[in-house]
Amino acid sequence: AVAGEAHTISPRPVVDRLPRYAAGKPPVAIEGLQSYKLSSNENPFPPLPSVLEAIAAHPNVNRYPDPLATALRTELASFLDVPAEDIVTGGGSLGALNQLLATFAGQREDGTQDEVIYPWRSFEAYPISVGLSGARSVQVPLLADGRHDLEAMAAAVTERTRMVLLCTPNNPTGPVLSTEEVEGFLAKVPSDVIVVIDEAYEDFVRDPDAVNGVEIYRRHQNAVVLRTFSKGAGLAGLRVGYSISHPHLTQYLRVTAVPFAVSQIAEQAAIASLQHHDEVVERIQALVAERTRVVEGLKALGWAIPQAEGNFVWLDLGENTPEFAVLAEQQALAVRAFGTEGMRVTIGEEEANSRFLALCATYTKGPR
Ligand code: PMP
Repeated sequence: AVAGEAHTISPRPVVDRLPRYAAGKPPVAIEGLQSYKLSSNENPFPPLPSVLEAIAAHPNVNRYPDPLATALRTELASFLDVPAEDIVTGGGSLGALNQLLATFAGQREDGTQDEVIYPWRSFEAYPISVGLSGARSVQVPLLADGRHDLEAMAAAVTERTRMVLLCTPNNPTGPVLSTEEVEGFLAKVPSDVIVVIDEAYEDFVRDPDAVNGVEIYRRHQNAVVLRTFSKGAGLAGLRVGYSISHPHLTQYLRVTAVPFAVSQIAEQAAIASLQHHDEVVERIQALVAERTRVVEGLKALGWAIPQAEGNFVWLDLGENTPEFAVLAEQQALAVRAFGTEGMRVTIGEEEANSRFLALCATYTKGPR
């Protein structure tokens, strides 16, 4: 076709059916009011000085990065006490998840589809990533308190199931899975089903019974852990995350790796944040303290909210969600509304959290 002339090139049929990823909106500017973005579960702290130094010290961007991110994997291996060979880095943990799906799930040669089970509601990217892989999404509704319905998820496993995604803490509702729950689930699932434990928010977890995905991976050949530098370490803009799994899986992940998915700068920044982990932890502690303040504040108002173990709280506002979203916007707070289901609000700067609590105090239709 000639440029400018009307023509259509169709995508793969599945692409037309994919939901659109609605990234967290920036706040609307309001005269005389500092605005805050509480819509993407980002870390409000600016980069650590050591991270900025690492970024500035890397002028060789005319060269490709190390495709295997060996320096970062070596650092992570000693940090987590796992073999460096079991770590596969990606452009964010979402990159690592997409790679897992592309490698292990999709459309079969006979045209039928593998199945990937995950809780719903959960991370918005799951239906998109699974759909794009060619596999079929099997969404299992959460329990009323925002937790995974692990019994129903185990019952949903068929001979077509290739993968199950567990999200702990669950985005956007907040509860964690316990070690006992995950062990019980793994005992029910065939060992050729890959169980992915998405721990994007694990840095913020304080529940002593919460599962530690790395411990599960140590005990189970079919368990895969997903972690990221986007949340606790605050490097969302650099896109670096990873999966941890055993060699019988990583041998294939090495084949499907997107070459150079992690940039040199992202790799060095991630290393710097591991080397200054105590400073990262200080910030995480401050955010966890703010989370406690917000949760206690909401409870004092009589609001019922699910266990909040990530850097966000879930407000089960139902049909009042859009109305509350407008009120937040008028306070220059960008939050994430999910239709008429509820709202997720990230724990941000102290003033942002205080303004959010003050808004909640004026709202009579909070979840009870
Ligand atoms: N998993 C979960 C549960 C998330 O909420 C997110 C980010 N919102 C991700 C994975 C992906 O994060 P990233 O690609 O930045 O590592």
